[in-house]
Amino acid sequence: MINSILFGAQGSYKIGNITINYDPVDNGEINILGNNLFSKLGKALLTNKVMAIVSLGYLHITIHELGHAIAEQMLAKRTISSTITVFTKTCTGNCSVGSSNERWKEIAILIAGPLADVLFSIMQCMLGFMCISAGFFGSTCLGSILIASGVSWIAGELFYATRPYGDVGKIVHLVCG
Ligand SMILES: [Zn+2]
Repeated sequence: MINSILFGAQGSYKIGNITINYDPVDNGEINILGNNLFSKLGKALLTNKVMAIVSLGYLHITIHELGHAIAEQMLAKRTISSTITVFTKTCTGNCSVGSSNERWKEIAILIAGPLADVLFSIMQCMLGFMCISAGFFGSTCLGSILIASGVSWIAGELFYATRPYGDVGKIVHLVCG
């Protein structure tokens, strides 16, 4: 599982009622990011395997989708199964969330994804600063990478979420119709 989370190796894992699949397909969905400079930059970083690994992309996608899945599990009245797919070629993800007839639950599940990854990214940045101040061999290098990756993912999550197809965009659509 570590190989999948860090390097995007193919695999399928089950944690309780949540199944996580690491699938080496290009789901093409990354094209929806649009054509502005930020989108192009993000796309270049995600589709570049080395950059995806260095920026801990597969880990961040896993955390984001786990946020959706765990929220869904917590809010479900009966036992349900959630399936997460991490598309390892484009470093994107998907969580099969069944629609709920309660709007607040749908909103909570949608917000849980970006929220989980933003919180995780903040902790990653703090870890980076701790590494640098600890001053061991290579600590500045490791710390800088951790901070750069954390900041990039916070920016990426906020940028993605606010697109019409992103998680917050979907909430706006739910509320405003
Ligand atoms: Zn999401």
